[in-house]
Amino acid sequence: MHFHNRPQCYGGNTMRAMQIVEFGKPLQLNTYADPAPSGSEVIVRILSSGVCHSDLHLWEGFFDLGGGQKLEVTNRGMTLPHTLGHEIAGEVVAVGPDAKDVRVGQRFVVFPWIGCGQCAACQAGDELLCAAPRTLGTRRDGGYATHVVVPHPKYLVDHGNTPIELACTYACSGLTAYSAIRKTETVKNRKRLLLVGAGGVGMAGLEVAKAIFDGEIIVADIDDKKLQTAKEHGAHDVVNTRAEGALARLQQQTGGGVCSAVDFVGAAASFRFGFDALRRGGKIVIVGLFGGDAPFAPIAMPFKMAAIEGSYVGDLPEFHELMALVRAGKIGPMPYATRPLEAANDVLEELRGGKVVGRVVLRP
Ligand SMILES: [Zn+2]
Ligand SMILES: [Zn+2]
Repeated sequence: MHFHNRPQCYGGNTMRAMQIVEFGKPLQLNTYADPAPSGSEVIVRILSSGVCHSDLHLWEGFFDLGGGQKLEVTNRGMTLPHTLGHEIAGEVVAVGPDAKDVRVGQRFVVFPWIGCGQCAACQAGDELLCAAPRTLGTRRDGGYATHVVVPHPKYLVDHGNTPIELACTYACSGLTAYSAIRKTETVKNRKRLLLVGAGGVGMAGLEVAKAIFDGEIIVADIDDKKLQTAKEHGAHDVVNTRAEGALARLQQQTGGGVCSAVDFVGAAASFRFGFDALRRGGKIVIVGLFGGDAPFAPIAMPFKMAAIEGSYVGDLPEFHELMALVRAGKIGPMPYATRPLEAANDVLEELRGGKVVGRVVLRP
C-alpha cells in the first residue's frame, strides 16, 4: 500500500518523502498525510535512514547483468513515485488494532526484507525466497522519509544503547555482511578471510568479521584511502588490487591463498581477484551488486575444489542474532556521517562518485 493512497491521517500532513518520480532524475520532495495503521501495521517515525549503494541502481532503474543486459527494477515490483531507503530506525508513533506487544514511543531498527507472508516460502519462514516480497525501500515505500509503514511488529528489533544513526545501518550493511560471513563457515580450518571492497557493506563486514571470525582478516580495495580506514578499523592486512603483482604477493604471503573470501563489490574484477586469491577448497561468497560479467573457466572449480555462493541480505533470525551481538557491544561501529533528508540527491551523487567512506545516514 502506498502513502498517497491513504486518505486517513492521525496527526496532519507532516509526512515528507524524497521520492523517485523518474528513474535517474533527482529525487523530489513530496508531502503527504501522515499514514494511519490498519490491521497489524505499525507506523514508525523515521529518525535515521542509511543510504546504500544498491539505492543507486534502484534510482537509475536497473541492475547491470553484463553483456548489455539489464534487470529493470520495474520488473521487480517497483512503481513510481517510490521512496528509497531500506536501512531504517525510528520511533513508533501509531499501532494498528492487531499489532501486539508494541507501544507508541518505543524505538527500533526495522527489518525491511519482508515477504508476502502467504506463499510456501514465506510459510516455511524463508521470506528471502519469496517471489513477491514487500521489501521496504525497493517494493514498498522506504526510509527516505519521515514515516514508514511496517506491516507487522515482528519486523521491529531492539537496538539497545546503539546510537540510532548507527542502528539503522545494521538492517542492510550489517546484516548483509553478517549473513555472507556466516556462509564462509562451511570451509574447514579457516585461518584467513579476504574481504573484497571496503565500501559501506565491506566496512560493516570488517566489524562483523572481528566479532565472529577468529583469524586473519585481509581487506582489498582499489582506493588507498578506504584501505587506510580499514587498517585503522583493525584489518590485519590490506591489498590494493590495482597494485602491480598484488595477487601473487597475497598468494605468497598466505602460503597458497585465503580460505574464504567475500566479494562486497560484485564486479568482474572484484570477483576475479577474490576467486583467484582462494586456496584449494576455498569459498567465495558474492554479495555486491555492482554488475557486469566475468569470463570464467569452469575447470577452475574442480581443480581448486572451490565453492561460489551467492548471498542476498539476510533473514529475520540472522538479524536477531546480529542485533544480539550489537546489543552486547560485540560489533564495533563502522564509520558514518549524518545529513538531512533533503540532501538525499547530493548523497547519491557522492556515492556514485565513490567519495563516501562508510555510511551516510539521513536524519529526517
Ligand atoms: Zn542495502
Ligand atoms: Zn511470500
